[in-house]
Amino acid sequence: MKTSEEYRAKLYNMKPNVYIDGDIVNRKDNRLEGSITTICKTFDMINDPELKDLLVTTSHISNEKINRFTHIHQTVDDLLKKQEMTRKICHYTGGCIFRCMGVDAMNSLSIITSKAEMMTGRPYNQRWLKYLKYWQKNDIVGCCAQTDAKGDRSLRPHQQADPDLYVRVVEEREDGIIVRGAKNHITAAAIAEEIIVTPTRFLTSEEDKYAVSFAIPGDWDGVYLVTRASNMKQREHIPCPAGAFGDVETTVIFDDTFIPNDRVFLGGAPGEHQFGGWLALLFALYHRHSYTGCKPSSTDIILGYCALVSEYSGIENQKHVQSKLADLISVAELVYASGIAAAYKATKDETCGTMIPDPMFCNVGRKHAGKNYYHELETLADLSGGLPATLPFEKDFFSEERIGELLQKYIKRKADVPAEDIYKLYRTLSDVLCSSIGGVISVAGVHGGGSPVMEDIAILKQYDIDARKKIARYLAGIKYD
Ligand SMILES: Cc1cc2nc3c(=O)[nH]c(=O)nc-3n(C[C@H](O)[C@H](O)[C@H](O)COP(=O)(O)OP(=O)(O)OC[C@H]3O[C@@H](n4cnc5c(N)ncnc54)[C@H](O)[C@@H]3O)c2cc1C
Repeated sequence: MKTSEEYRAKLYNMKPNVYIDGDIVNRKDNRLEGSITTICKTFDMINDPELKDLLVTTSHISNEKINRFTHIHQTVDDLLKKQEMTRKICHYTGGCIFRCMGVDAMNSLSIITSKAEMMTGRPYNQRWLKYLKYWQKNDIVGCCAQTDAKGDRSLRPHQQADPDLYVRVVEEREDGIIVRGAKNHITAAAIAEEIIVTPTRFLTSEEDKYAVSFAIPGDWDGVYLVTRASNMKQREHIPCPAGAFGDVETTVIFDDTFIPNDRVFLGGAPGEHQFGGWLALLFALYHRHSYTGCKPSSTDIILGYCALVSEYSGIENQKHVQSKLADLISVAELVYASGIAAAYKATKDETCGTMIPDPMFCNVGRKHAGKNYYHELETLADLSGGLPATLPFEKDFFSEERIGELLQKYIKRKADVPAEDIYKLYRTLSDVLCSSIGGVISVAGVHGGGSPVMEDIAILKQYDIDARKKIARYLAGIKYD
Protein backbone atom coordinates (compact mmCIF):
# COMPACT_ATOMS: atom_id res chain seq x y z
CA MET A 1 0.00 0.00 0.00
CA LYS A 2 1.07 3.56 -0.63
CA THR A 3 2.97 5.64 1.92
CA SER A 4 2.35 9.29 2.62
CA GLU A 5 5.81 10.06 1.19
CA GLU A 6 4.81 8.44 -2.11
CA TYR A 7 1.55 10.41 -2.15
CA ARG A 8 3.42 13.66 -1.55
CA ALA A 9 6.01 12.82 -4.21
CA LYS A 10 3.26 12.22 -6.76
CA LEU A 11 1.51 15.50 -5.88
CA TYR A 12 4.73 17.47 -6.08
CA ASN A 13 5.30 16.17 -9.62
CA MET A 14 1.90 17.31 -10.87
CA LYS A 15 1.61 20.15 -13.35
CA PRO A 16 0.80 23.49 -11.68
CA ASN A 17 -2.86 24.17 -12.49
CA VAL A 18 -3.92 25.33 -9.01
CA TYR A 19 -4.87 29.02 -8.74
CA ILE A 20 -4.74 30.61 -5.28
CA ASP A 21 -5.37 34.31 -4.75
CA GLY A 22 -3.71 35.45 -7.98
CA ASP A 23 -0.92 32.85 -8.07
CA ILE A 24 -0.61 29.71 -10.19
CA VAL A 25 1.01 27.24 -7.83
CA ASN A 26 2.22 23.67 -7.69
CA ARG A 27 1.14 21.34 -4.89
CA LYS A 28 4.22 22.25 -2.80
CA ASP A 29 2.62 25.62 -2.04
CA ASN A 30 2.55 26.14 1.72
CA ARG A 31 -1.16 27.02 1.71
CA LEU A 32 -1.95 23.41 0.69
CA GLU A 33 0.29 21.84 3.32
CA GLY A 34 -2.33 21.59 6.11
CA SER A 35 -4.73 19.69 3.89
CA ILE A 36 -2.01 17.40 2.52
CA THR A 37 -1.05 16.61 6.14
CA THR A 38 -4.69 15.66 6.78
CA ILE A 39 -4.79 13.20 3.86
CA CYS A 40 -1.43 11.74 4.91
CA LYS A 41 -3.09 10.41 8.07
CA THR A 42 -5.03 7.94 5.89
CA PHE A 43 -1.73 6.42 4.78
CA ASP A 44 0.25 6.71 8.02
CA MET A 45 -2.43 5.24 10.26
CA ILE A 46 -2.48 1.84 8.54
CA ASN A 47 0.26 0.99 11.06
CA ASP A 48 -1.65 2.31 14.08
CA PRO A 49 -2.79 -0.57 16.35
CA GLU A 50 -6.18 1.10 16.92
CA LEU A 51 -6.89 1.68 13.25
CA LYS A 52 -5.02 -0.85 11.14
CA ASP A 53 -7.80 -3.45 11.21
CA LEU A 54 -10.28 -0.82 10.09
CA LEU A 55 -8.08 0.88 7.49
CA VAL A 56 -6.79 -2.25 5.80
CA THR A 57 -9.12 -4.63 3.99
CA THR A 58 -9.10 -7.09 1.07
CA SER A 59 -10.08 -6.15 -2.45
CA HIS A 60 -13.01 -8.16 -3.81
CA ILE A 61 -11.51 -8.00 -7.31
CA SER A 62 -7.80 -8.68 -6.73
CA ASN A 63 -7.88 -10.37 -3.31
CA GLU A 64 -5.01 -8.12 -2.30
CA LYS A 65 -4.69 -5.96 0.80
CA ILE A 66 -5.94 -2.46 0.12
CA ASN A 67 -6.69 0.76 1.99
CA ARG A 68 -10.39 0.85 2.90
CA PHE A 69 -10.63 4.30 1.32
CA THR A 70 -10.42 2.47 -2.04
CA HIS A 71 -12.81 -0.38 -1.19
CA ILE A 72 -16.20 -1.23 -2.74
CA HIS A 73 -18.49 -2.29 0.11
CA GLN A 74 -19.43 -5.97 -0.17
CA THR A 75 -21.00 -6.62 3.24
CA VAL A 76 -22.81 -4.97 6.14
CA ASP A 77 -19.54 -5.21 8.02
CA ASP A 78 -17.78 -3.16 5.32
CA LEU A 79 -20.28 -0.32 5.80
CA LEU A 80 -19.94 -0.53 9.59
CA LYS A 81 -16.16 -0.48 9.39
CA LYS A 82 -16.09 2.49 7.01
CA GLN A 83 -18.26 4.41 9.46
CA GLU A 84 -16.18 3.44 12.50
CA MET A 85 -12.92 4.17 10.68
CA THR A 86 -14.21 7.61 9.67
CA ARG A 87 -15.29 8.49 13.22
CA LYS A 88 -11.99 7.36 14.72
CA ILE A 89 -9.60 8.83 12.17
CA CYS A 90 -11.32 12.25 12.22
CA HIS A 91 -10.48 12.50 15.94
CA TYR A 92 -6.84 12.77 14.91
CA THR A 93 -7.34 15.52 12.33
CA GLY A 94 -9.85 17.61 14.29
CA GLY A 95 -12.36 17.42 11.43
CA CYS A 96 -12.77 16.18 7.86
CA ILE A 97 -10.45 13.46 6.52
CA PHE A 98 -11.07 14.36 2.82
CA ARG A 99 -10.92 10.84 1.42
CA CYS A 100 -14.55 9.72 1.69
CA MET A 101 -15.75 11.72 -1.34
CA GLY A 102 -13.59 9.60 -3.65
CA VAL A 103 -14.63 6.24 -2.22
CA ASP A 104 -18.29 7.31 -2.07
CA ALA A 105 -18.16 8.26 -5.76
CA MET A 106 -16.52 4.93 -6.66
CA ASN A 107 -19.18 2.92 -4.79
CA SER A 108 -21.99 4.76 -6.54
CA LEU A 109 -20.27 4.28 -9.91
CA SER A 110 -19.96 0.52 -9.31
CA ILE A 111 -23.75 0.34 -9.38
CA ILE A 112 -24.60 2.91 -12.05
CA THR A 113 -22.00 1.71 -14.56
CA SER A 114 -23.29 -1.88 -14.15
CA LYS A 115 -26.87 -0.83 -14.77
CA ALA A 116 -25.96 1.52 -17.63
CA GLU A 117 -23.86 -1.16 -19.36
CA MET A 118 -26.58 -3.77 -18.92
CA MET A 119 -29.29 -1.48 -20.29
CA THR A 120 -27.41 0.35 -23.07
CA GLY A 121 -24.70 -2.14 -24.08
CA ARG A 122 -22.08 0.62 -23.80
CA PRO A 123 -18.97 -0.66 -21.94
CA TYR A 124 -19.24 1.70 -18.97
CA ASN A 125 -18.76 -0.98 -16.32
CA GLN A 126 -15.81 -2.58 -18.13
CA ARG A 127 -14.05 0.80 -18.21
CA TRP A 128 -14.88 1.48 -14.59
CA LEU A 129 -13.60 -1.95 -13.48
CA LYS A 130 -10.29 -1.30 -15.24
CA TYR A 131 -10.15 2.07 -13.51
CA LEU A 132 -10.97 0.47 -10.13
CA LYS A 133 -7.98 -1.88 -10.52
CA TYR A 134 -5.72 1.12 -11.12
CA TRP A 135 -7.40 2.97 -8.22
CA GLN A 136 -6.90 0.17 -5.70
CA LYS A 137 -3.41 -0.85 -6.83
CA ASN A 138 -2.17 2.73 -6.56
CA ASP A 139 -4.16 3.62 -3.40
CA ILE A 140 -5.51 6.69 -5.18
CA VAL A 141 -6.64 9.86 -3.40
CA GLY A 142 -9.73 11.05 -5.26
CA CYS A 143 -12.27 13.79 -4.80
CA CYS A 144 -15.82 13.98 -6.10
CA ALA A 145 -16.87 16.97 -8.18
CA GLN A 146 -20.64 16.87 -8.08
CA THR A 147 -21.98 20.36 -7.26
CA ASP A 148 -22.51 22.35 -10.47
CA ALA A 149 -22.46 26.13 -10.71
CA LYS A 150 -26.28 25.78 -11.13
CA GLY A 151 -27.16 29.37 -12.14
CA ASP A 152 -30.79 30.29 -11.45
CA ARG A 153 -31.87 27.73 -8.85
CA SER A 154 -35.50 27.84 -10.01
CA LEU A 155 -34.56 26.57 -13.48
CA ARG A 156 -33.53 23.12 -14.66
CA PRO A 157 -30.16 22.60 -16.39
CA HIS A 158 -31.60 22.80 -19.92
CA GLN A 159 -33.64 25.93 -19.02
CA GLN A 160 -30.67 28.06 -17.90
CA ALA A 161 -29.84 31.23 -19.91
CA ASP A 162 -26.32 29.80 -20.21
CA PRO A 163 -26.39 26.02 -20.81
CA ASP A 164 -22.86 25.66 -19.41
CA LEU A 165 -24.03 26.34 -15.84
CA TYR A 166 -24.23 22.57 -15.41
CA VAL A 167 -21.33 20.42 -16.69
CA ARG A 168 -22.28 18.88 -20.04
CA VAL A 169 -20.94 17.10 -23.09
CA VAL A 170 -20.43 19.63 -25.89
CA GLU A 171 -18.87 17.27 -28.46
CA GLU A 172 -18.64 13.54 -29.01
CA ARG A 173 -15.57 12.18 -30.77
CA GLU A 174 -14.43 8.70 -31.80
CA ASP A 175 -11.86 8.65 -29.02
CA GLY A 176 -13.77 10.47 -26.27
CA ILE A 177 -15.91 13.47 -25.32
CA ILE A 178 -15.39 17.21 -24.82
CA VAL A 179 -16.93 18.62 -21.64
CA ARG A 180 -17.63 22.18 -20.51
CA GLY A 181 -18.80 23.65 -17.19
CA ALA A 182 -17.74 24.23 -13.59
CA LYS A 183 -18.11 22.40 -10.31
CA ASN A 184 -18.15 24.51 -7.13
CA HIS A 185 -16.81 23.91 -3.60
CA ILE A 186 -14.91 20.69 -4.40
CA THR A 187 -13.10 19.54 -1.27
CA ALA A 188 -9.52 18.35 -1.78
CA ALA A 189 -9.57 18.78 -5.60
CA ALA A 190 -6.26 20.69 -5.44
CA ILE A 191 -4.54 17.85 -3.56
CA ALA A 192 -6.30 14.89 -5.17
CA GLU A 193 -4.54 12.63 -7.63
CA GLU A 194 -7.84 12.08 -9.43
CA ILE A 195 -11.03 14.11 -9.85
CA ILE A 196 -14.22 12.07 -10.29
CA VAL A 197 -17.14 13.93 -11.84
CA THR A 198 -20.82 13.07 -11.31
CA PRO A 199 -24.05 14.95 -12.12
CA THR A 200 -25.65 17.09 -9.40
CA ARG A 201 -29.32 16.27 -9.70
CA PHE A 202 -32.11 14.26 -11.19
CA LEU A 203 -32.27 14.87 -14.97
CA THR A 204 -35.09 14.96 -17.52
CA SER A 205 -35.19 13.62 -21.07
CA GLU A 206 -34.05 17.03 -22.42
CA GLU A 207 -30.91 16.68 -20.32
CA ASP A 208 -29.06 13.63 -21.63
CA LYS A 209 -25.93 15.73 -22.33
CA TYR A 210 -25.74 16.54 -18.63
CA ALA A 211 -25.65 12.85 -17.72
CA VAL A 212 -21.89 12.77 -17.74
CA SER A 213 -19.44 11.09 -15.39
CA PHE A 214 -15.70 10.62 -15.77
CA ALA A 215 -12.38 10.62 -13.91
CA ILE A 216 -9.25 12.57 -14.76
CA PRO A 217 -5.91 13.24 -13.08
CA GLY A 218 -6.01 16.52 -11.10
CA ASP A 219 -3.54 18.23 -13.45
CA TRP A 220 -5.30 17.23 -16.69
CA ASP A 221 -5.11 19.62 -19.66
CA GLY A 222 -8.02 22.07 -19.86
CA VAL A 223 -8.84 21.89 -16.12
CA TYR A 224 -8.46 24.97 -13.90
CA LEU A 225 -8.47 24.49 -10.12
CA VAL A 226 -9.36 27.84 -8.54
CA THR A 227 -8.74 27.19 -4.89
CA ARG A 228 -9.44 28.61 -1.46
CA ALA A 229 -7.21 27.12 1.23
CA SER A 230 -7.83 27.67 4.94
CA ASN A 231 -5.28 26.90 7.60
CA MET A 232 -4.94 27.30 11.34
CA LYS A 233 -3.01 30.40 12.40
CA GLN A 234 0.37 28.97 13.29
CA ARG A 235 1.50 28.88 16.92
CA GLU A 236 5.00 29.99 17.88
CA HIS A 237 5.21 28.83 21.49
CA ILE A 238 2.62 26.11 21.74
CA PRO A 239 2.66 23.72 18.77
CA CYS A 240 -0.27 21.27 18.84
CA PRO A 241 -1.69 18.53 16.58
CA ALA A 242 -4.83 20.51 15.66
CA GLY A 243 -2.67 23.37 14.34
CA ALA A 244 -1.17 21.16 11.63
CA PHE A 245 -4.33 20.54 9.61
CA GLY A 246 -6.10 22.59 6.96
CA ASP A 247 -9.07 22.67 4.65
CA VAL A 248 -9.20 23.22 0.90
CA GLU A 249 -12.05 23.74 -1.59
CA THR A 250 -11.85 24.39 -5.32
CA THR A 251 -13.92 25.67 -8.21
CA VAL A 252 -13.08 23.08 -10.86
CA ILE A 253 -13.48 24.52 -14.36
CA PHE A 254 -13.65 22.36 -17.48
CA ASP A 255 -12.79 24.59 -20.41
CA ASP A 256 -13.72 22.36 -23.36
CA THR A 257 -11.76 19.53 -21.79
CA PHE A 258 -11.09 16.29 -23.67
CA ILE A 259 -11.90 13.09 -21.76
CA PRO A 260 -10.68 9.87 -23.41
CA ASN A 261 -13.20 7.03 -23.72
CA ASP A 262 -11.55 4.74 -21.17
CA ARG A 263 -12.19 7.37 -18.47
CA VAL A 264 -15.81 8.08 -19.40
CA PHE A 265 -18.29 6.25 -17.13
CA LEU A 266 -21.41 7.95 -18.47
CA GLY A 267 -21.16 9.78 -21.76
CA GLY A 268 -24.39 11.79 -22.13
CA ALA A 269 -25.72 9.61 -24.97
CA PRO A 270 -29.45 9.69 -25.85
CA GLY A 271 -31.55 8.16 -23.04
CA GLU A 272 -28.80 8.34 -20.41
CA HIS A 273 -30.42 11.09 -18.32
CA GLN A 274 -31.96 8.47 -16.01
CA PHE A 275 -28.53 7.03 -15.11
CA GLY A 276 -27.22 10.55 -14.47
CA GLY A 277 -30.02 11.22 -11.99
CA TRP A 278 -29.54 7.90 -10.20
CA LEU A 279 -25.82 8.51 -9.95
CA ALA A 280 -26.41 11.95 -8.39
CA LEU A 281 -28.71 10.47 -5.76
CA LEU A 282 -26.51 7.45 -5.05
CA PHE A 283 -23.35 9.50 -4.51
CA ALA A 284 -25.30 11.72 -2.10
CA LEU A 285 -26.55 8.61 -0.30
CA TYR A 286 -23.08 7.10 0.20
CA HIS A 287 -21.78 10.49 1.25
CA ARG A 288 -24.53 10.95 3.82
CA HIS A 289 -23.61 7.55 5.22
CA SER A 290 -20.01 8.76 5.54
CA TYR A 291 -21.38 11.77 7.43
CA THR A 292 -22.75 9.40 10.08
CA GLY A 293 -19.09 8.67 10.85
CA CYS A 294 -17.45 12.11 10.56
CA LYS A 295 -20.18 14.18 12.19
CA PRO A 296 -20.25 12.14 15.43
CA SER A 297 -16.49 12.65 15.39
CA SER A 298 -16.95 16.46 15.18
CA THR A 299 -19.43 16.27 18.04
CA ASP A 300 -16.98 14.14 20.07
CA ILE A 301 -14.37 16.86 19.59
CA ILE A 302 -16.74 19.69 20.56
CA LEU A 303 -17.95 17.65 23.53
CA GLY A 304 -14.36 17.12 24.64
CA TYR A 305 -13.66 20.87 24.44
CA CYS A 306 -16.88 21.63 26.34
CA ALA A 307 -16.10 19.16 29.12
CA LEU A 308 -12.47 20.26 29.46
CA VAL A 309 -13.18 23.99 29.53
CA SER A 310 -15.91 23.36 32.11
CA GLU A 311 -13.47 21.36 34.23
CA TYR A 312 -10.82 24.11 34.04
CA SER A 313 -13.42 26.73 35.00
CA GLY A 314 -14.75 24.68 37.93
CA ILE A 315 -18.30 24.38 36.52
CA GLU A 316 -18.28 20.82 35.23
CA ASN A 317 -20.67 19.49 37.88
CA GLN A 318 -23.22 22.26 37.43
CA LYS A 319 -26.62 20.99 36.33
CA HIS A 320 -26.85 23.10 33.17
CA VAL A 321 -23.39 21.97 32.07
CA GLN A 322 -24.23 18.30 32.59
CA SER A 323 -27.46 18.78 30.65
CA LYS A 324 -25.62 20.38 27.71
CA LEU A 325 -23.07 17.55 27.69
CA ALA A 326 -25.92 15.03 27.63
CA ASP A 327 -27.42 16.89 24.64
CA LEU A 328 -24.14 16.64 22.75
CA ILE A 329 -23.78 12.94 23.55
CA SER A 330 -27.33 12.37 22.29
CA VAL A 331 -26.57 14.04 18.95
CA ALA A 332 -23.30 12.16 18.43
CA GLU A 333 -24.73 8.77 19.31
CA LEU A 334 -28.06 9.19 17.48
CA VAL A 335 -26.27 10.20 14.27
CA TYR A 336 -23.85 7.30 14.70
CA ALA A 337 -26.75 4.93 15.42
CA SER A 338 -28.49 6.02 12.21
CA GLY A 339 -25.38 4.99 10.25
CA ILE A 340 -25.29 1.62 12.01
CA ALA A 341 -28.99 1.12 11.24
CA ALA A 342 -28.37 2.15 7.61
CA ALA A 343 -25.67 -0.53 7.39
CA TYR A 344 -27.79 -3.27 8.97
CA LYS A 345 -30.73 -2.37 6.73
CA ALA A 346 -28.51 -2.13 3.64
CA THR A 347 -29.43 -3.99 0.46
CA LYS A 348 -27.13 -5.70 -2.02
CA ASP A 349 -27.38 -4.26 -5.52
CA GLU A 350 -28.57 -7.07 -7.75
CA THR A 351 -26.41 -6.14 -10.77
CA CYS A 352 -23.00 -5.82 -9.11
CA GLY A 353 -23.28 -6.89 -5.46
CA THR A 354 -22.28 -3.54 -3.92
CA MET A 355 -23.97 -2.83 -0.58
CA ILE A 356 -26.33 0.17 -0.58
CA PRO A 357 -26.98 1.71 2.86
CA ASP A 358 -30.60 2.31 3.80
CA PRO A 359 -31.60 5.75 2.44
CA MET A 360 -34.05 6.66 5.23
CA PHE A 361 -31.54 6.10 8.03
CA CYS A 362 -28.73 7.87 6.11
CA ASN A 363 -30.89 10.92 5.46
CA VAL A 364 -32.38 11.30 8.94
CA GLY A 365 -28.89 10.89 10.42
CA ARG A 366 -27.35 13.51 8.14
CA LYS A 367 -30.28 15.88 8.72
CA HIS A 368 -29.94 15.56 12.51
CA ALA A 369 -26.20 16.22 12.32
CA GLY A 370 -26.55 19.27 10.04
CA LYS A 371 -29.36 20.78 12.09
CA ASN A 372 -27.35 20.54 15.27
CA TYR A 373 -23.92 21.74 14.18
CA TYR A 374 -24.40 25.44 14.91
CA HIS A 375 -26.19 24.51 18.13
CA GLU A 376 -23.12 22.52 19.20
CA LEU A 377 -20.95 25.56 18.55
CA GLU A 378 -23.39 27.68 20.55
CA THR A 379 -22.97 25.26 23.48
CA LEU A 380 -19.20 25.54 23.18
CA ALA A 381 -19.38 29.35 23.03
CA ASP A 382 -21.70 29.34 26.05
CA LEU A 383 -19.48 27.14 28.24
CA SER A 384 -16.23 28.81 27.15
CA GLY A 385 -17.30 32.35 28.02
CA GLY A 386 -15.96 35.23 25.92
CA LEU A 387 -12.28 34.36 26.00
CA PRO A 388 -12.08 32.49 22.66
CA ALA A 389 -12.94 35.83 21.05
CA THR A 390 -10.68 38.07 23.15
CA LEU A 391 -7.68 35.87 23.99
CA PRO A 392 -4.43 37.89 24.06
CA PHE A 393 -1.93 36.99 21.35
CA GLU A 394 0.83 34.46 22.04
CA LYS A 395 3.68 36.98 22.00
CA ASP A 396 2.00 38.96 24.79
CA PHE A 397 1.03 35.91 26.82
CA PHE A 398 4.53 34.45 26.69
CA SER A 399 6.30 37.82 26.91
CA GLU A 400 9.43 37.93 29.05
CA GLU A 401 8.31 41.34 30.21
CA ARG A 402 5.91 42.13 33.05
CA ILE A 403 2.75 41.74 30.89
CA GLY A 404 3.57 38.04 30.27
CA GLU A 405 3.72 37.36 34.00
CA LEU A 406 0.49 39.32 34.59
CA LEU A 407 -1.44 37.64 31.80
CA GLN A 408 -0.37 34.21 33.10
CA LYS A 409 -1.60 35.24 36.57
CA TYR A 410 -4.99 36.55 35.40
CA ILE A 411 -5.86 33.70 33.02
CA LYS A 412 -5.95 31.27 35.95
CA ARG A 413 -9.10 29.34 36.73
CA LYS A 414 -8.89 26.18 38.89
CA ALA A 415 -5.71 26.52 40.97
CA ASP A 416 -4.26 23.16 39.93
CA VAL A 417 -4.53 23.81 36.17
CA PRO A 418 -1.35 25.48 34.81
CA ALA A 419 -1.85 28.85 33.08
CA GLU A 420 -0.20 27.51 29.93
CA ASP A 421 -2.74 24.65 29.62
CA ILE A 422 -5.61 27.10 29.94
CA TYR A 423 -4.05 29.26 27.25
CA LYS A 424 -3.49 26.24 24.96
CA LEU A 425 -7.11 25.16 25.28
CA TYR A 426 -8.45 28.65 24.62
CA ARG A 427 -6.19 29.03 21.57
CA THR A 428 -7.78 25.91 20.16
CA LEU A 429 -11.28 27.13 21.06
CA SER A 430 -10.46 30.36 19.22
CA ASP A 431 -9.65 28.27 16.13
CA VAL A 432 -12.98 26.48 16.33
CA LEU A 433 -15.18 29.48 17.15
CA CYS A 434 -13.44 32.59 15.82
CA SER A 435 -11.21 31.70 12.87
CA SER A 436 -11.59 31.66 9.13
CA ILE A 437 -11.17 27.87 8.98
CA GLY A 438 -13.67 27.42 11.83
CA GLY A 439 -16.21 29.36 9.74
CA VAL A 440 -15.56 27.19 6.69
CA ILE A 441 -16.04 23.99 8.70
CA SER A 442 -19.32 25.35 10.14
CA VAL A 443 -20.80 26.06 6.71
CA ALA A 444 -19.65 22.60 5.59
CA GLY A 445 -21.53 21.16 8.57
CA VAL A 446 -24.77 22.55 7.08
CA HIS A 447 -24.23 22.20 3.31
CA GLY A 448 -21.69 19.39 2.81
CA GLY A 449 -23.47 16.39 1.32
CA GLY A 450 -26.33 18.61 0.12
CA SER A 451 -28.22 21.53 1.66
CA PRO A 452 -30.77 20.58 4.37
CA VAL A 453 -33.79 20.68 2.06
CA MET A 454 -32.26 17.88 -0.03
CA GLU A 455 -32.44 15.55 2.96
CA ASP A 456 -36.04 16.63 3.60
CA ILE A 457 -36.94 15.81 0.00
CA ALA A 458 -35.29 12.38 0.25
CA ILE A 459 -36.97 11.65 3.59
CA LEU A 460 -40.45 12.75 2.52
CA LYS A 461 -40.25 10.88 -0.79
CA GLN A 462 -39.66 7.55 0.92
CA TYR A 463 -41.76 7.83 4.03
CA ASP A 464 -45.22 6.34 4.12
CA ILE A 465 -47.10 9.29 5.60
CA ASP A 466 -50.46 7.86 4.48
CA ALA A 467 -49.87 4.84 6.71
CA ARG A 468 -49.48 7.24 9.65
CA LYS A 469 -52.68 9.06 8.67
CA LYS A 470 -54.42 5.70 8.73
CA ILE A 471 -53.25 5.18 12.31
CA ALA A 472 -54.54 8.63 13.22
CA ARG A 473 -57.94 7.89 11.65
CA TYR A 474 -58.13 4.53 13.40
CA LEU A 475 -57.29 6.00 16.80
CA ALA A 476 -59.71 8.92 16.34
CA GLY A 477 -62.47 6.61 15.20
CA ILE A 478 -62.68 8.16 11.71
CA LYS A 479 -63.90 5.80 8.99
CA TYR A 480 -61.48 4.98 6.16
CA ASP A 481 -61.23 2.50 3.26
C1 LIG B 1 -17.02 23.39 2.77
C2 LIG B 1 -17.83 22.70 1.70
C3 LIG B 1 -17.32 21.57 1.08
C4 LIG B 1 -18.01 20.95 0.03
N1 LIG B 1 -17.46 19.88 -0.61
C5 LIG B 1 -18.05 19.38 -1.73
C6 LIG B 1 -17.42 18.35 -2.51
O1 LIG B 1 -16.36 17.83 -2.14
N2 LIG B 1 -18.02 17.93 -3.65
C7 LIG B 1 -19.20 18.47 -4.08
O2 LIG B 1 -19.68 18.06 -5.13
N3 LIG B 1 -19.82 19.45 -3.38
C8 LIG B 1 -19.28 19.91 -2.22
N4 LIG B 1 -19.91 20.90 -1.48
C9 LIG B 1 -21.13 21.47 -2.02
C10 LIG B 1 -22.41 21.23 -1.24
O3 LIG B 1 -22.93 19.96 -1.54
C11 LIG B 1 -23.34 22.38 -1.67
O4 LIG B 1 -22.86 23.55 -1.01
C12 LIG B 1 -24.78 22.14 -1.33
O5 LIG B 1 -25.30 21.09 -2.12
C13 LIG B 1 -25.60 23.41 -1.60
O6 LIG B 1 -25.40 23.88 -2.91
P1 LIG B 1 -25.01 25.41 -3.16
O7 LIG B 1 -23.81 25.72 -2.36
O8 LIG B 1 -24.96 25.62 -4.62
O9 LIG B 1 -26.16 26.24 -2.49
P2 LIG B 1 -27.60 26.54 -3.10
O10 LIG B 1 -28.05 25.37 -3.90
O11 LIG B 1 -27.56 27.86 -3.77
O12 LIG B 1 -28.45 26.60 -1.79
C14 LIG B 1 -28.84 27.81 -1.13
C15 LIG B 1 -30.28 27.68 -0.69
O13 LIG B 1 -31.12 27.59 -1.84
C16 LIG B 1 -31.99 26.48 -1.72
N5 LIG B 1 -32.25 25.93 -3.06
C17 LIG B 1 -31.35 25.64 -4.02
N6 LIG B 1 -31.95 25.15 -5.12
C18 LIG B 1 -33.26 25.11 -4.84
C19 LIG B 1 -34.41 24.70 -5.57
N7 LIG B 1 -34.32 24.21 -6.81
N8 LIG B 1 -35.61 24.78 -4.95
C20 LIG B 1 -35.72 25.25 -3.70
N9 LIG B 1 -34.65 25.67 -2.96
C21 LIG B 1 -33.45 25.60 -3.52
C22 LIG B 1 -31.23 25.49 -0.85
O14 LIG B 1 -32.09 24.58 -0.22
C23 LIG B 1 -30.56 26.43 0.14
O15 LIG B 1 -31.44 26.73 1.20
C24 LIG B 1 -19.26 21.47 -0.38
C25 LIG B 1 -19.79 22.60 0.28
C26 LIG B 1 -19.10 23.21 1.30
C27 LIG B 1 -19.70 24.43 1.97
